[in-house]
Amino acid sequence: MQANATSSQAQLSSSALPDGPIALKQPSDAFYATWTLLESVTDPEIPVVNLREMGILRAVRQTTTGLEVVITPTYSGCPAMSQMEDDVVNALSKAGVAARVLTQIAPAWSTDWMTPEGREKLRAYGIAPPHPSGCGSPVANVIQFASKKVAGGERPAVACPQCGSLNTTETSHFGSTACKALYRCLNCLEPFDYFKPY
Ligand SMILES: [Zn+2]
Repeated sequence: MQANATSSQAQLSSSALPDGPIALKQPSDAFYATWTLLESVTDPEIPVVNLREMGILRAVRQTTTGLEVVITPTYSGCPAMSQMEDDVVNALSKAGVAARVLTQIAPAWSTDWMTPEGREKLRAYGIAPPHPSGCGSPVANVIQFASKKVAGGERPAVACPQCGSLNTTETSHFGSTACKALYRCLNCLEPFDYFKPY
């Protein structure tokens, strides 16, 4: 190996798993058929969004022991994790594809891994999609549910998914699940969930 340590390390981590949203696969992809089957597997908590759009589905790869699907749950204590694993295996086995699921929790899932179409589906579903986490600090991935904006005291305006108004206010930092905050639109008066970035 002629490459220096830094670049070979970067190569290793980037070939191991992608960092960021995963676009719909093209027919030229080696695992196109598998990716296409997995498009039907949705987030157990948000059934309008599939695992790829949520950024949970990270990779499909061939290993020495067979086909492997890598998922990263939205947070490590996610109660839906085993259901997602089952859903992936079932969706594939129905089509005669045998695969095992590897649940990988590092690097931690980020709302930045959600695809643009996933964000739009969230909004249409009535959940305000997360702002970019936009925080380069590695600490951000550790303190997953602490609001990053508390220290600075400034929160970006969250647009109402119903009417688009930015005249909204947070009524509870924890909404229907820990990863969402409850907001209320001061324009149309509708309450809604905001998917917190992290
Ligand atoms: Zn509104």
